[in-house]
Amino acid sequence: MDEAPVSAHHDLAERVVTAMRRHGSPGYPRAFEVWYAHLSGEMPAVSIALNAILAGGDGKITAADIDSLYERFINTERFSRQAERTSLQVLGEIDAMMALVDKALGSSELYHGRLTAMSEDVPPVSDRQKLREWVEALVLSTREEVTRKAQLEAELRNSANEIRNLREALESTRAEALTDPLTGLANRRHFEEMLQKSIDQATLRREPFALVMADIDFFKRFNDAHGHLTGDQVLRLVARTMKDKFKDKAIISRFGGEEFAIILPESDLIAGKFGAETVRQALLTRELVKRSTNENLGRITISLGVAMYRRGDTAGSLVDRADQAMMRAKRDGRNRTVTEEAVELASRVA
Ligand code: GH3
Ligand code: MG
Ligand code: MG
Repeated sequence: MDEAPVSAHHDLAERVVTAMRRHGSPGYPRAFEVWYAHLSGEMPAVSIALNAILAGGDGKITAADIDSLYERFINTERFSRQAERTSLQVLGEIDAMMALVDKALGSSELYHGRLTAMSEDVPPVSDRQKLREWVEALVLSTREEVTRKAQLEAELRNSANEIRNLREALESTRAEALTDPLTGLANRRHFEEMLQKSIDQATLRREPFALVMADIDFFKRFNDAHGHLTGDQVLRLVARTMKDKFKDKAIISRFGGEEFAIILPESDLIAGKFGAETVRQALLTRELVKRSTNENLGRITISLGVAMYRRGDTAGSLVDRADQAMMRAKRDGRNRTVTEEAVELASRVA
């Protein structure tokens, strides 16, 4: 049975406790966090995974389930939040440095101001004493300014170097926090950010976009037969094939495990299905050969589901429809693409 996410906060805690009791959930803090993430509707991915577990079993959730959900979704999310905090700190430091630079530049204006004042107050040539003092003051001022300039230059160069280093560190931290290390695709968190962005834009501009969920067929069997490391190579191959096909026209992500999610901007259901089919067929032409032994491992197939953004969709509802379509593709025999429209038609006929 699915728990519908709610946005109201006042009874959320109560709902969490009730749901935990109903499903025999363990009661330690991690479990509370998982249920909270689910029922608050803040992490649709947790909701989908949790509902899948509840639907698959006897409606009970075990400590192993909780731990796995926590590791898969919440722990990684926390790491990313940490990275974000760090980047804010770095940006703060850059601001502070820029303020110093501004201040330093101000002192140079002081010199120019002094020069201007002096040029307006040149003593008469006849007054040799005054004239000498005037020249000495000018030389002194200039000498000071030269020293100050040299210091300033060195400080500026240091600051610039520091800012460059910080910016590089910041960029690589951010990229790391958004990338799946195995495939180099966008990770789950990045996907969720981009999906929300796409929804906001689609709502604003009335532009359609499609979401494709893809899942490798019989991947457990493949792993069992050829080993996990070879399985990892397959994940990379699928990712590469998707990148080759879509280039930068789509946001391709590793949704989790052996599942991928692809956001296709400016695409309706037909364009989405076309894109999905392109990838599926490209994979069919690739024969897998184990490099170390030259052993032929056959072909890998994927099942895909396509949904299109509708007004009022949340990230969760859209992912859900694409997921249903993908599951339908599995039931219909795998190695195929099914659209949400086909799912609806089938349920109307049934
Ligand atoms: P189906 O066609 O119904 O999708 O069958 P399946 O075997 O692909 O589905 P199932 O969900 O039973 O198994 C998914 C498998 O994916 C189990 C797990 O070992 C494998 N898997 C998940 N993540 C990774 C990974 O990072 N590397 C490797 N090698 N395997 C992974
Ligand atoms: Mg799967
Ligand atoms: Mg699979």
